[in-house]
Amino acid sequence: MTIDPDFPKNHKVIGKHSTTDGAYSHFVWGPGRKDAESSTNKEVQDAYKARGEEYVPLGIHGTYVAVDWDSCISDGACIEACPVQVYQWYRSEQDIPAIEMVNALTEGIGDDHNREGRKDYTDKPDPIRESACIWCMACVTVCPTNSIKVDEANLPVHEEQSQKFVES
Ligand code: SF4
Repeated sequence: MTIDPDFPKNHKVIGKHSTTDGAYSHFVWGPGRKDAESSTNKEVQDAYKARGEEYVPLGIHGTYVAVDWDSCISDGACIEACPVQVYQWYRSEQDIPAIEMVNALTEGIGDDHNREGRKDYTDKPDPIRESACIWCMACVTVCPTNSIKVDEANLPVHEEQSQKFVES
């Protein structure tokens, strides 16, 4: 139950997450999945219970650096592996439910270096600086649940969606 390699065909864009300075943006693809790895991961489920927050399907953040937030168990190896800080822990900047990040505006000032920078196991690595990727594949290699797909071939998909997307 890893990230769907054909997600651009099998999912649709449900939002666009941008930085406040306009330098970066990535698309969010849905719908999410109820039965992916995080649904049975004890640390993730205990963290939701501790917060009293509802566990809901979240979808995929990013297109050519894409992270399936339902498969992701918040390990954080990707954040430590990335040499150019594509990712940040989203809750380290905005401590809100992940579903509210679909159309978020973010400064990009969250923790982007350390696995232990996560707020808790409801946190997710957010590919906030997607276009900074240098295609090293380190994050893909270290992800324990194969939740990440990095693929230059999806650059045109991102461009196509950029033309079509209407801000809500
Ligand atoms: S492929 Fe390399 S540069 Fe790109 S997001 Fe993953 S770790 Fe970072």
